[in-house]
Amino acid sequence: MSVWAILVAAGRGERLGSDQPKAFAKLGELPLLAEPLRRLDDSEWVDAVVVVAPPGWEEPAILLAEELGAGKVRACVSGGETRAASVRAGLAEVPEDAAVVLVHDAARPLLSDEVIERVLTPLAEGWDGVVPGLPVSDTVKRVGSDGDVVETIARDGLWTVQTPQAFPADVIRRAVAGFGDATDCAGLVEASGGRVKVVAGDPLLLKVTTADDLARVASLL
Ligand code: C5P
Repeated sequence: MSVWAILVAAGRGERLGSDQPKAFAKLGELPLLAEPLRRLDDSEWVDAVVVVAPPGWEEPAILLAEELGAGKVRACVSGGETRAASVRAGLAEVPEDAAVVLVHDAARPLLSDEVIERVLTPLAEGWDGVVPGLPVSDTVKRVGSDGDVVETIARDGLWTVQTPQAFPADVIRRAVAGFGDATDCAGLVEASGGRVKVVAGDPLLLKVTTADDLARVASLL
């Protein structure tokens, strides 16, 4: 069973307040992209990696992969306007005979092999997708533009969902073939009628959005 990972790194990262795209913001000495790329490349579960870089940043992404000795990188392509478009661009590089596709956000650098194993294992039971998640522990409210509470949402059964997300290759290909958009790949699979399972995520898989998040990840490394 060949597992191809698509590392989506083409977001602009405007909330980070940096001149460069988020994937090239510095985490220690190296760009943020280096950490998840190295971890995917080192994983015994992953056979090949496609990097989806911000438009114009393909060359630095390839040089970074070479610098890291990331030998599983098979392609580096330019991302699209939306996350779904970036996943679509990455999938175009995945060969027909790939069995499983693992999609991971470069903005979640602290990826562990245990999480990769947890999302891959249930695919054998016939799920259309498996995603890591954490049950919501805070009270959740919908808030209007004036800061006014519109409603309090019962948190029973509410989970926040992370990446890496695992799919049979044919399922994710069909799901992204349309022009639909969603903030994660599982959303596209669900919209096309697929059954998606949630497994235990990892609090360390936090997503870097702001400069504070970047500092937090740096301190956790
Ligand atoms: O912006 P958001 O939090 O949805 O980004 C999640 C991941 O998707 C990030 O790693 C980002 O680089 C990637 N992304 C992308 N192409 C886009 C938007 C986001 O590859 N157009």
